[in-house]
Amino acid sequence: MSNTLYEELVEVYEEISSTTSRLEKEDIISKFLKSIKENDPEITYDVTLLLQGKIFPPWSDKEMGVSTQLIIKALSKLLGENTKSIENKLASVGDMGEITEELVKNNKQVTFFKVPLTIKKVISNLRKTESIVGSNSQNKKLNLILELYTSASPIEAKYITRTITEKLRIGVGEGTLVEAIAKAYDIEKDIIDRAYMLSNDLGEVANRALDSVDSVKSLTIAPGKPIKPMLAQLSPGIKESIVEMGKVICETKYDGIRVQIHKKDDEIKIFTRRLENVTNALPEIVEYIREALPDEDFIVEGEVIATKDNKPISFQYILQRVKRKYDVEKMREKIPLKIFLFDVLYYKTPKAELPIGQRRELLESIVTVSSDVELSTMRIVTEENYEEAEELFNWSVENGHEGIMFKDITSPYSPGKRGKNMLKFKPVRETLDCVITGGIYGKGKRAKFFGSYLLSLLDSESGEYKTLVHAATGMDDEMLASLTERMQQHIISTSEQIVKFKPAVILEVAFSEIVESNEYETGYSLRFPAIKGVRDDIGLDQVDTIDKLQQMIELQNS
Ligand code: AMP
Repeated sequence: MSNTLYEELVEVYEEISSTTSRLEKEDIISKFLKSIKENDPEITYDVTLLLQGKIFPPWSDKEMGVSTQLIIKALSKLLGENTKSIENKLASVGDMGEITEELVKNNKQVTFFKVPLTIKKVISNLRKTESIVGSNSQNKKLNLILELYTSASPIEAKYITRTITEKLRIGVGEGTLVEAIAKAYDIEKDIIDRAYMLSNDLGEVANRALDSVDSVKSLTIAPGKPIKPMLAQLSPGIKESIVEMGKVICETKYDGIRVQIHKKDDEIKIFTRRLENVTNALPEIVEYIREALPDEDFIVEGEVIATKDNKPISFQYILQRVKRKYDVEKMREKIPLKIFLFDVLYYKTPKAELPIGQRRELLESIVTVSSDVELSTMRIVTEENYEEAEELFNWSVENGHEGIMFKDITSPYSPGKRGKNMLKFKPVRETLDCVITGGIYGKGKRAKFFGSYLLSLLDSESGEYKTLVHAATGMDDEMLASLTERMQQHIISTSEQIVKFKPAVILEVAFSEIVESNEYETGYSLRFPAIKGVRDDIGLDQVDTIDKLQQMIELQNS
């Protein structure tokens, strides 16, 4: 029976937090993994998860279902502190973990009977909360976490809370863990990395590494477990990209959400590009796919788009579908969906390592196309017939799609990589000139600067400026610093991180789409805003108006 103390892991958490050096973090973790290997190898999987602040692997759809409110209730019950006062502390401190530590430390009322907590005990109690449903479920969950807090030291209590709230705050990313695992088991980093991209499960990778390099190498994709999607870089231009790549699959780029659809035995699961399981929100896609593909195990990828009269409509509608937990059937009628498939990663056996040219042929041979399930429109182009790519681009944009994709016909699927084998090409984006009326200080390295600006448009009727969007991307370090300095003189008021400015400085912001929003005074907002630069060449009276926005919306909708 595994008996490594939770205290040991907590010491590791603390040590990791005390350094900002990634290298040191890697060393601390790899040393710890080595000691687990020596003394208690059976908890390798769990430890790897806990180091990511998780108790279930990222591809799992299981959730603890323990709210901050329930943590507060547990602490209140345990320490006799009233819930209101804990809530007030939370409002001012912001980190429930720190509050837990402080409360347990200051607690003079009860001396607990301390049973030392083991890692196994912590993770197993937390995992049990997931399966509890029904009438008395909150109380049963409360008891499970109370049992942990009762035996925890203040610092252990802090990390129990942080694990429940899934905010570990120790500054460890996936990259650091991959390096640490490579070091701990003395295996090349690239081998670990590949296994991680394919399985999306560092626990499993570590478990196999414990066993042997070959075991890590033999890890391959499997239906049921999402794979990190291959990503696209920006194409500098149609002809340039084709010349660079040689022979290219050129496809319409659809503006919806990317889905990875897995079928294992009889079960179909749909994952988003962030690997969230959204199967329940998209029942018709499950039905369509079951109809369109043979009854085999497979993994296919495609883009789901929302349609009206069989024409693509704005991306924001599909978001409403994907996030939906209730009334799915009603939404299904309101916002019909269809899917364009563009890749196959598994069909009876893994196919991801085949060139896209062959994967596409396989896809064509297994999919029965209908009005609900289509294959992406594509052409095979080389330098000789690159005009066909331009034609496809024009056709795609005219038909309401986003642009085109280029895929090097010889390239395998590289999970999680933003490489040169897949490029995207979109039309020039529209821009608006907005005035800065607010700002938010950045985080971490950017804490001294305004990391994000609130931008507004001119309401020509009232002469006032109305808020439209927060824009944060597009600024390089120099602009970040110079604009922050310049904005100091325009500050009207500051409240914590948030600042209000007198309208004075105008920014040009590019975006991909105007969307409805009740967060901003204009009633709209911009999708993918990017700051292009300061417009010192125009005056405040030339800030773009809400009327112009309205015209753009009409154009967008036509
Ligand atoms: P981006 O999201 O701008 O980085 O562009 C890559 C995304 O384009 C993918 O994640 C897909 O969601 C989407 N996409 C749309 N059509 C295609 C296609 N035919 N092939 C690959 N990706 C596509």
